[in-house]
Amino acid sequence: MDLFPIVMLQEGEEKRILDGHLWIFNNEIATISPGTRNGDIVHVLDFNGTPLGTGYINKKSKITVRLLDSAADNGFSGLVEDIYKLLKAKLTTAVKKRSHIKNTNAKRYVFSEADSLPGLIADMYGKILVIQITTLGMEKQKEKIVAILDELLKPSVIYEKSLSPSREKEGMEKKEAIIKPETAIIKPVEIYENGLKFIVDLVHGTKTGFYLDQRDNRDKLQKYCEGKKVLDAFCYTGGFSAFALKAGAMQTLGLDTNEEALKTAADNMRLNKFEKFTFEKANVFNKLRDLVDEEKKFGVVILDPPAFSKTKEEKEGAIKGYKDIHMYGMKLLEKGGHLMTFSCSQNISKEDMITIANEAAQDARISIEFVETLTQATDHPYTSRIPETFYLKGLVLKRK
Ligand code: SAH
Repeated sequence: MDLFPIVMLQEGEEKRILDGHLWIFNNEIATISPGTRNGDIVHVLDFNGTPLGTGYINKKSKITVRLLDSAADNGFSGLVEDIYKLLKAKLTTAVKKRSHIKNTNAKRYVFSEADSLPGLIADMYGKILVIQITTLGMEKQKEKIVAILDELLKPSVIYEKSLSPSREKEGMEKKEAIIKPETAIIKPVEIYENGLKFIVDLVHGTKTGFYLDQRDNRDKLQKYCEGKKVLDAFCYTGGFSAFALKAGAMQTLGLDTNEEALKTAADNMRLNKFEKFTFEKANVFNKLRDLVDEEKKFGVVILDPPAFSKTKEEKEGAIKGYKDIHMYGMKLLEKGGHLMTFSCSQNISKEDMITIANEAAQDARISIEFVETLTQATDHPYTSRIPETFYLKGLVLKRK
């Protein structure tokens, strides 16, 4: 049974794993089998020798072990010896979990810890599979993963876009490569979502190319937009603008600092035969203030900023930034208008967002009512046992 090296936890440190988390931190470990190399598959035992799960190790990272299979899982049958079989079972479950999403050909099939596959993201855009690997342990399983995903999803092209800065903590360089077929050229691809078409630049775009996690919220936006002027702040390639126009918005104004994304945004509107759109290169923080000074009003304002706060230390500055854009965003609302606002910062909670919105409304001297809470699309599942999997929070407020 000693097929893989053993990691034994210190006394009492098994609790979080039994509660369903997949991470083991360096200070929770009692012993590691001699000769264990970073990236190796390991078997994890509690202090009394009871099996806790199978995962992979990297002593370079504070999160030293990430489990692929754990005693908290249904049907746990002890330490796994056949890693191919384990990965195949996890990947098959992950793929099946997305079979209810039929309104698009662009989906996230694997979302790391949320699918018990830490360190792996896999998105399909039409027939192109984009994988992203963030940990050394997953990197070492890449060949198996690619073979299994190839069989399950039958993509015509597999492209690796592993550019996450977190690879550095794992002692890895960023990596970008065409895995299959070697001769493929990755061109921008056209996808569809809820009846609209979008061009996605997989290579130059942010993330794997498109904010798939906002799919359900783009759909929900529509009910607020008919006949309205819509401000799409942090618009990227215009996803929200497109659905506003589909719903009959009078006009849209999209703002972003990314010039390439703005060009694609305009192409996306033309692709769907929309006409009443404008995209402008602008820093949202300044532009919102200018629009308030010009006494402009909108029926709908969307705020979808990037993660301002990646660490606890950055949280205070992030809250100030959020409050600022909320205050100006609210001032731009006509009476009865809606603000749709998001945070993808890990350490800003939904409660923080409600507080920020209330304080911003006070500063703006307007009355608001909370209409809806929003979250990440269902192909980005989250589990309460791993709080880190819940990252996208949104609110819809109405100006009274
Ligand atoms: N709403 C988009 C995703 C937004 S991602 C969608 O659904 O597709 C966040 C965007 O904010 C990025 O495109 C980034 O270029 C932009 N951005 C970051 N800081 C900015 C700033 N200060 N002003 C304007 N845009 C900014």
